[in-house]
This record gives sequence, structure tokens and C-alpha cells, in this order.
Amino acid sequence: MALPANPGRRGLLLGRPVIVDQRPVAALARSCLALRGIACMSCRDACLTGAIRFSLVRGGAIPRVEAEACTGCADCIPVCPASAITLVAPEAREPSRA
Ligand code: SF4
Ligand code: SF4
Repeated sequence: MALPANPGRRGLLLGRPVIVDQRPVAALARSCLALRGIACMSCRDACLTGAIRFSLVRGGAIPRVEAEACTGCADCIPVCPASAITLVAPEAREPSRA
């Protein structure tokens, strides 16, 4: 089912309180070692919510962030040897892949 384009405004119009998720979310940059073919899973190991998942590809595994599972805690940032993780605004969240 598709969500309304602006659920917060729709909720106001209907007189219902709506909580819009404003948490920042982790984003991975191209400097990520795993994306460059170098084995690394430090961020996954540091993420207590399991928001960083790896997909097997030829020659290794590449990470992605499941936005719904990311709390924006930033625990993954200091463990990244490539400084490839930042927190971004919710509107910049990657679309989740089912
Ligand atoms: S810790 Fe950094 S370099 Fe390693 S897989 Fe995660 S984002 Fe990539
Ligand atoms: S910010 Fe926290 S919850 Fe989000 S991916 Fe990093 S460690 Fe996991």
C-alpha cells in the first residue's frame, strides 16, 4: 500500500497526531573498502540493530543500510577504517530494498 506523499500534513488535516520520523540515518560513501573489493565488515559488527547488511557479490560482499532499522546512533562511524559512513537527514535516506 502506498503511503500518502505527506503523511504529517495529512494527519493534521484529519485531526490526528502523526509522528514523522526525523532521525538521521547512516549512509555509505564510495570510499567504503567493501565496495572497492576489500574485505571489511567492521560497521556491521558495530551495529547493534543489524541495520547494516551485506549482500554477496562476485568476489566479496557489499554493504547497505536498512533505513528502517537504523536508529542514527552513530556507533558505526568511528569503526570504519575508510571514514565512509556519515549520518544524513531523513529525506536523504536510501529507499529500503525488500
Ligand atoms: S566499516 Fe567502512 S569500509 Fe568497512 S564495510 Fe563498513 S562502510 Fe565499508
Ligand atoms: S547509525 Fe547506529 S543503527 Fe544506524 S547503521 Fe550505524 S550503528 Fe547501525
